[in-house]
Amino acid sequence: MKHVVVIGGGVAGMQCASELARQGVAATILEKESDLGGKVRNWHKLFPTFTPAEELLSALRLRIAEQPHIKVMTGCEAENISPRKVVLKSGEEIECDAVVIATGYTLFDARIKEEYGYGIYDNVITSADLEQMFNRGEVFLTHGGKPRRIAILHCVGSRDEKVCQRHCSKVCCVTGVKQAIELKQMFPDADVFNFYMDIRMFGPGYEEMYREAQQKYNVHFVRGRISEVSPTIDNRLQLKAEDTLTGRPLKMGVDMLVLLIGMKANDMNAELESQSNLRLQPSGFMQPRDSFLGNTESQIGGIFYAGTVTSPKNARESLNEAVAAARSAVAWLNNK
Ligand SMILES: Cc1cc2nc3c(=O)[nH]c(=O)nc-3n(C[C@H](O)[C@H](O)[C@H](O)COP(=O)(O)OP(=O)(O)OC[C@H]3O[C@@H](n4cnc5c(N)ncnc54)[C@H](O)[C@@H]3O)c2cc1C
Ligand code: SF4
Repeated sequence: MKHVVVIGGGVAGMQCASELARQGVAATILEKESDLGGKVRNWHKLFPTFTPAEELLSALRLRIAEQPHIKVMTGCEAENISPRKVVLKSGEEIECDAVVIATGYTLFDARIKEEYGYGIYDNVITSADLEQMFNRGEVFLTHGGKPRRIAILHCVGSRDEKVCQRHCSKVCCVTGVKQAIELKQMFPDADVFNFYMDIRMFGPGYEEMYREAQQKYNVHFVRGRISEVSPTIDNRLQLKAEDTLTGRPLKMGVDMLVLLIGMKANDMNAELESQSNLRLQPSGFMQPRDSFLGNTESQIGGIFYAGTVTSPKNARESLNEAVAAARSAVAWLNNK
């Protein structure tokens, strides 16, 4: 039986291994964390359907458990990759017939944008922190009490030359709208403001969510970028921004600021480029062999890509691409 190593046990890696097994190929998933699921493990409800993230993960876990030819190795970090062999950080070597890289992305570190005060001021949190709060069933202020006025800031660590992240992370506009709705469901009397540069609602059902946020939940959308955040004496946050539609400067006091952090390429991608002659895009994400006809293939025969390792994507796109990657790998193995 042919054997493919899938590096990364996020939703893309899980789906890819399950498709490989379905096609009669044995798969080993290498995951550096202690559990499968990747970033989705931290999310609460998934846009655009508000499906609990755990529901998707349970379905994927079940598919893997049902396949006797899938081996899962957690706590294993792949360090060196070639089509016939993967070397782990521990030094262990795993032989195989092909490799799928499904190592995903890294969340932008909001502390780098010091002007927003993440890690400095109370009640400045990231979208990832807010998902964890939703999962715990409580969103609260550091000094106690419920937020009455919340600002959500788009494009933190995306479309930003100053931090060398010029790309659009694609999923944060819709995440901001989804989180605004969830906040309004939790705190119907609160005012929730989304500060955006452009609203990019590119997927099916996204535009409808955007409309619902405005019409049903009365979420406010302000076109403008927050330039500065400072704490006030009464434990609130003072925001300075410019409303770019009216051209007017704006000052606003809020109880909580949510930073919609972007999807950044993994540092490991640059190592893959130097080690294995794989190619990078200017954004740092891996460059597929062909953007149209070889989107899940690398420049090297026997090395494939699945999910967000090649660009920001939502979960649905990552899952679909994982199936395509598995099928490309099987076709390549059959033609060898
Ligand atoms: C704040 C936020 C909210 C989001 N909410 C939604 C949503 O509601 N709906 C939606 O459709 N999408 C959402 N997304 C997008 C979603 O997170 C991604 O589409 C999804 O995580 C992509 O899965 P992946 O498997 O490609 O990558 P990841 O989730 O990043 O998984 C990659 C896995 O590879 C592992 N790995 C990395 N390097 C190695 C290595 N060297 N060796 C072994 N293992 C390794 C990692 O530990 C990780 O488990 C959101 C994104 C963000 C930033
Ligand atoms: S999806 Fe929206 S918030 Fe995210 S980088 Fe693109 S424009 Fe900015």
